[in-house]
Amino acid sequence: MSKVLITGKTKLLGVIGHPVEHSLSPLMHNAALAQLVVDIAHLGLDYVYLPFPIAPENLEIAIAGFAAIGVVGFNVTIPHKQAIIPLLSEITPVAQAIGAVNTVSRQNNKWVGTNTDIEGFIAPLQTTYKQDWSQKVAVILGNGGAARAVVAGCHQLGFAKIYVLGRNVQKLQAFCDSWSNSPIEENLQVGTWDELAKLIPQADLLVNTTPIGMYPKVDESPLSGEEIANLPKGAIAYDLIYIPKPTQFLEQAEKQGAIAIDGLEMLVQQGVAALKIWLQRETVPVEVMRQTLREHLGLG
Ligand code: NAP
Repeated sequence: MSKVLITGKTKLLGVIGHPVEHSLSPLMHNAALAQLVVDIAHLGLDYVYLPFPIAPENLEIAIAGFAAIGVVGFNVTIPHKQAIIPLLSEITPVAQAIGAVNTVSRQNNKWVGTNTDIEGFIAPLQTTYKQDWSQKVAVILGNGGAARAVVAGCHQLGFAKIYVLGRNVQKLQAFCDSWSNSPIEENLQVGTWDELAKLIPQADLLVNTTPIGMYPKVDESPLSGEEIANLPKGAIAYDLIYIPKPTQFLEQAEKQGAIAIDGLEMLVQQGVAALKIWLQRETVPVEVMRQTLREHLGLG
């Protein structure tokens, strides 16, 4: 495998979070950056991507420090995705709609924030299962940060109805209110998990955005066997979790004749979209990024 070469000209990219040790982004991005050096070394694409553990109380000073040392761009993960917004000069309409930033770039001496999770989420739906979504129903389990990108992604694809189910009525109401005055409001309905049985038979796309079933609790699923049995054949079951692969939820859904999509491609594609912004390139080594993650996760 190619290696990133650090020289006197190397420019800095990275990810901020707290904690950040678990992040797979340094692995994925450095593999892509090393490949680019091999492919087109003469273009001077000399970058390295580092993890930066930054406690919430140090966020402001860290971002000022990033500007001082010439950081070109960085990803933002929990708990900074909302807190970063007041520290940026601009945020894109997409990030504005979601209310969270996962990618920041330095443009004309200003920090500009965007959110590439939508692109990551819709990429496998657009490429592999391309279809007209305008008569389709999406049912989304969970109403946290990732669910916001999923709702915006479903709206962008043109879904007729988007249902979001959660367990906490107050949080659900706040989630719903946060979309008021946005075009998304028209197609969005929220409800509690009690509505699941009624909605599953109508679902063309069923998305798990909760952490239920994530390693190490791999035997758990957001749905009971009875509930999943009512998922229509040919529906798409999409789990944002990427380990285990497949999750219990996807395994159950596939047995019912559903099409399964796991969270690995979303992870890859949100990274691809971020790297394109930082490097201002139309193409980046997607396959290297995908394969690096697959090997790291023991998926071969
Ligand atoms: P989050 O903001 O904490 O939201 C989690 C949501 O799940 C909340 O609505 C929470 O409900 C709900 N939830 C948690 N445990 C539950 C349970 N036992 N029963 C019912 N609902 C439960 O987290 P997030 O950032 O959205 O991430 C969610 C998942 O998506 C994680 O597994 C994460 O790894 C994955 N993810 C994957 C990608 C990717 O690229 N593949 C990207 C982002 C996230 P309350 O609000 O009531 O607590």
